[in-house]
Amino acid sequence: MSYQYDLFVIGAGSGGVRASRIAASKGYKVAVAEGSALGGTCVNIGCVPKKLFVYGSEYGHGFDEAKGFGWSTDKVEFDWPTLRDNKTKEIERLNGIYGTMLEKAGVEIINGYAKFIDAHTVEVNGVHYTAEKILVAVGAKPFIPDIQGAEFVVSSNEMFFLEQLPKKALVVGGGYIAVEFAGILNGLNVETSLIYRGDQVLRGFDQDIRDFASNEYKKSGIDVRLNTDIAKIELVDANQREGEKLVTFQDGRTEKVDLILYATGRVPNTDGLNLDAAGVELEKGAIKVNKHFKTTTDTIFALGDVINRVQLTPVAIGEAMALISYWFDGNEAEYDYDNIPTAVFSQPPIGTVGLSEEEAEQRGIDFRVYQTDFRAMKHTISGGDARSMMKLLVNNADDKVIGCHMVGDYAGEIIQGLGIAIKAGATKADFDATVGVHPSSAEEFVTFSEASLKKR
Ligand code: NDP
Repeated sequence: MSYQYDLFVIGAGSGGVRASRIAASKGYKVAVAEGSALGGTCVNIGCVPKKLFVYGSEYGHGFDEAKGFGWSTDKVEFDWPTLRDNKTKEIERLNGIYGTMLEKAGVEIINGYAKFIDAHTVEVNGVHYTAEKILVAVGAKPFIPDIQGAEFVVSSNEMFFLEQLPKKALVVGGGYIAVEFAGILNGLNVETSLIYRGDQVLRGFDQDIRDFASNEYKKSGIDVRLNTDIAKIELVDANQREGEKLVTFQDGRTEKVDLILYATGRVPNTDGLNLDAAGVELEKGAIKVNKHFKTTTDTIFALGDVINRVQLTPVAIGEAMALISYWFDGNEAEYDYDNIPTAVFSQPPIGTVGLSEEEAEQRGIDFRVYQTDFRAMKHTISGGDARSMMKLLVNNADDKVIGCHMVGDYAGEIIQGLGIAIKAGATKADFDATVGVHPSSAEEFVTFSEASLKKR
């Protein structure tokens, strides 16, 4: 049986683009179907525009801090449409680069959403396409709980295109997106509350990091409200279709706000794929795959957010490269999900790699902890009261560093290098033997001594 393509990829996000491009460069005849802009969530409504907004928002604090360094910043104004539209122009430039990249690699781009007809056939805009292999890389979409008035809230998708910036906003959730957008809004002078249902934001992160970051968010001006949840949302003026919202909390209190962002997780984007027609099964809402990203149908593969292992762009790209290596080199090695460095671009940012103290305890590891917090040099004259925190976990059995965590300026940049050290199996002695970069915050990671040992 011959097919039109060797590989048909559904979704031109981070994982899909990488898989199509590399497969085509290795000789496969490849097509990719994308119903929206090229680049997927990360490029269009995720990591990239979010980071541009973070940069824009950081000036909000920066102008205040500049005064201590001699700058006069009395006439500072912010224009939301300028940031929003410059961001959009940059994203459109990136969309173009993605298109050129795919075309140069010989990948055929099909504009439209694909759905399965059978294990070798998909349909896009009424046209059938057949392929030897099909890869599903359609990502995830925001999950908003079914509360009364859910139609009046926005998700992160809409945050990138707001007509105007609200004066007062509630951000619901305590994960990456919630703390990042709370920081963005707060920096842009929006009165911002972060509403989280549990005891502390950023569940899954090291507890000390969570407590420290949450306190820094408060110090920066965010009204962090823990153990709080919304019961219902109504419009203040019921005759209008939009405008001020009246929020009723679970404890009966009410509050009027302009914008409510629900950042309550993301779920695999499987609607409309007609997976049943191809025999592709789900597990807890995500496409079920084996260690080589093969679904329950031999000819169909899936990776990235739609398999819901780790919802991170570099992981989707890593999975795509592992799949390519399996297909073309017969490489049986499983993709390694251990020690993935990650950053939360909140203000201050968080960088982390390896185990948290709680995970190390759960695994029964005998370990020691080095920990410090300090006022970064910049803030000695900036007038700001922000502090940074760093933490290192070391396995007592072999001296290996098993966890590095930081809250503070440049944490995302700093953690990348530490990620290499941990992946390479560096010991505390290796850290000690490394010369610090002076003066920097990062040097704290190589100067931890007995004095900074946390008593556990
Ligand atoms: P997360 O899963 O990180 O966080 C979801 C948050 O919403 C949690 O605090 C959760 O609370 C809360 N929540 C879930 N359901 C409800 C509910 N019904 N009512 C109230 N609160 C609820 O999801 P995000 O949306 O923040 O991000 C999705 C993923 O995207 C992240 O996991 C991350 O992998 C990725 N991402 C990565 C970024 C980066 O690398 N910098 C940036 C942004 C996203 P609880 O903890 O109690 O369950």
